[in-house]
Amino acid sequence: MTKPIVEYKDVHKSFGDVEVLKGIDLDIFPAEKIAVIGPSGSGKTTIIRMLMTLEEPTDGDIIVDGKNLWKMDKHGKMVEADEKHLREIRGDIGMVFQHFNLFPHMTILENCMTAPIHVKGEKKKEVKKRSIDMLERVGLGDKINNYPSQLSGGQKQRVAMARALVMRPKIMLFDEVTSALDPELVGEVLEVIRDIAKNDDMAMVLVTHEMDFALDVADKVLFLDDGVIAEQGSASDVIEHSENPRVQEFLSRFR
Ligand code: ADP
Repeated sequence: MTKPIVEYKDVHKSFGDVEVLKGIDLDIFPAEKIAVIGPSGSGKTTIIRMLMTLEEPTDGDIIVDGKNLWKMDKHGKMVEADEKHLREIRGDIGMVFQHFNLFPHMTILENCMTAPIHVKGEKKKEVKKRSIDMLERVGLGDKINNYPSQLSGGQKQRVAMARALVMRPKIMLFDEVTSALDPELVGEVLEVIRDIAKNDDMAMVLVTHEMDFALDVADKVLFLDDGVIAEQGSASDVIEHSENPRVQEFLSRFR
């Protein structure tokens, strides 16, 4: 049987006195495409930021490739379980943010090349070729020497995707990547993600408000509500056939 690459076991997260995740259990399998939906403030972003190791849990286990990322020290504080493992898995996980986070002083080709060279120590020539291939794949082959400020929001987001893909991650995390875009630019970005989802075998976790898109690409949909996974199942089960009143109420906003 295939083993999950990521396991969340009873994961809790508090900011100060406020508990925003209240016991998350989740397995992510290789190549699985998971969409996370739910009301604003329900904890969706926190779930994926934890996998990117940008936040540590307050309690519970996050296990990647069979190893726990965090352990509790004798004062009850979560600390890195194994620094080397954490460094390795950071290289295996790519994230695309709502606000692109491109480096403004670098061309888009340089944006793509910097992490493989400086984080992974790869050879420049090979990284350059792969970066150009990836930028062509996202439809920006004619813009490689432009700077981010010369691009539209949709183009910037496509650069952010190419930049993440050049690292050849095992898991890609997408945090509401179309939310900051003008409506007419959303389609071109979803099209690129759809292409990746259909053709690449990396696992993907997508926080999204695009329900038709989730129906099209996700193997599994999680509905998060007030810090718990209130419903999960196939995209069709959750988005089209859920009888949970909270899910129905949430989805009615999109109709
Ligand atoms: P969602 O992505 O579903 O909108 P988030 O995971 O961003 O939800 O946030 C869940 C809750 O945690 C929100 O109430 C938010 O204000 C709070 N929160 C998130 N990050 C922090 C932080 N760094 N410090 C304090 N509160 C935070």
